[in-house]
Amino acid sequence: MIKKVRPHINQNEPLLFERSSPGKVAYQLPPLDVPPVDPAAALGADWVRSEISGFPEVSEVEVIRHFTRLSTWNYAIDLGVYPLGSCTMKYNPRLNEYVARLEGLAQAHPYQPEHLSQGAMRIQATLEQMLAEITGMDAVTLQPAAGAHGELTGIFLVRALLESRGDAREKVLIPDSAHGTNPATAHMAGYQVVSIPSNAEGMVDLGQLDHLVDDSVAALMVTNPNTLGIFEREIRQIARLLHSRGALLYMDGANMNALVGIARPGDFGVDVMHLNLHKTFSTPHGGGGPGGGPVAVTRELEPLLPAPRIVSRNGALSYDYDRPQSIGRVRAFYGNFGVLVRALAYILAHGGNGLRNATLDALLNANYVRRHLEGCYELPYNAPTMHECVFSDSRQAALGVRTGDIAKRLIDYGFHPYTVSFPLIVHGAMMIEPTETEDKRELDLLIDALRSIAEEVQRDPELVRSAPHATRTTRVDEVSAARKPVVRWKPA
Ligand SMILES: *Cc1c(COP(=O)(O)O)cnc(C)c1O
Repeated sequence: MIKKVRPHINQNEPLLFERSSPGKVAYQLPPLDVPPVDPAAALGADWVRSEISGFPEVSEVEVIRHFTRLSTWNYAIDLGVYPLGSCTMKYNPRLNEYVARLEGLAQAHPYQPEHLSQGAMRIQATLEQMLAEITGMDAVTLQPAAGAHGELTGIFLVRALLESRGDAREKVLIPDSAHGTNPATAHMAGYQVVSIPSNAEGMVDLGQLDHLVDDSVAALMVTNPNTLGIFEREIRQIARLLHSRGALLYMDGANMNALVGIARPGDFGVDVMHLNLHKTFSTPHGGGGPGGGPVAVTRELEPLLPAPRIVSRNGALSYDYDRPQSIGRVRAFYGNFGVLVRALAYILAHGGNGLRNATLDALLNANYVRRHLEGCYELPYNAPTMHECVFSDSRQAALGVRTGDIAKRLIDYGFHPYTVSFPLIVHGAMMIEPTETEDKRELDLLIDALRSIAEEVQRDPELVRSAPHATRTTRVDEVSAARKPVVRWKPA
């Protein structure tokens, strides 16, 4: 009797080492048609490897199948909706990849002389202009390699400006809903972090702010829309209050997917902000990079931007290193060029109206998800939803099921989990950001899965608590995996 059906795609693919069988060879070279030489004599004995012990001996098709099977184990944006949204990686249109692979761009070398780099430099100059237009800011640097790096650059700019006024000040205010990189940045730039509690609507409390901003405050770092997916409606008053007391407004632009083409930070009083090209502008964001974290500033901060700056002289572009007020370089060369190319391709392929429509679709999709799930999951803040909605697990927690359990169960339904337990101010947070690219059919599948899981929690909480059931491994020890990873194969 067959006890267990072995699916054709083996869910427990062994290591190649475990498949090894002595004498198997994946590829055979044709017989020598030249006289053989002694490798040690030809290369020097030091360069000749002795036997590699435990090296797997497998056939060609075993190697091909092994890696092809492993490749099917990944969830990918090309397979289905990614409820983590732009903050992790939204869909990167194929056109961006095509443009980035054009030979003249892909093979450009950073040490190429300026007169041979005019095209690459024009891409950078054009992207700076377009990002300035999109944000409503006066100048942009493309140097920072990611959002957190942009934040650090931005707060260095704040410090440099305040120092030039004779008073760097001591504190940076940060709402309690902020991303962890904000307080880390302020701390690294030598500021003391003061947390501002959000009000009942999930926004910065103007009264609290009024109370906290004195002449020791350098800046407020605010994410808008914030990490609850809520637009800070009083942002103009916030900016006015800060400016009236000599402080600056830093905006974390990680959520610009909700604003592009609709509202411009420069128009609501922001002094300095970063963008995440690998979020809003769709460039790939795998394995920790590479990314792009351009910083946009007002005219007042422009002379302080990292050197060099691209300038146009007599019809040609060149790098200007003579920037006496600059905070200096923050990165080698001029940013992650391939990312810049993709971001510009994305912007130009959409055009102004296209970018605006993408934003509107992102908002529509998040609101559609919210509407269809608010009957099953608790919505801790009832303010209008922008590009993402944040539920809490409080109804399910009453039955002993937490956000992490629901996320694991979602894997059984064939979806990547949503963002678990962030933002921290929502206990048991379940954050869903569908982005603009998902159509109604795909969203309905996700909604059906999450509604079905909510019913399972009522009927059989243990089923959800012990998920996933359809994967190769169930619960792994995530803490040990992160702290003590085993990455080396030791042959027996
Ligand atoms: C992603 C994110 C950051 C950090 O950006 P990286 O590009 O990952 O360094 C900062 N703030 C918010 C709100 C984010 O979502």
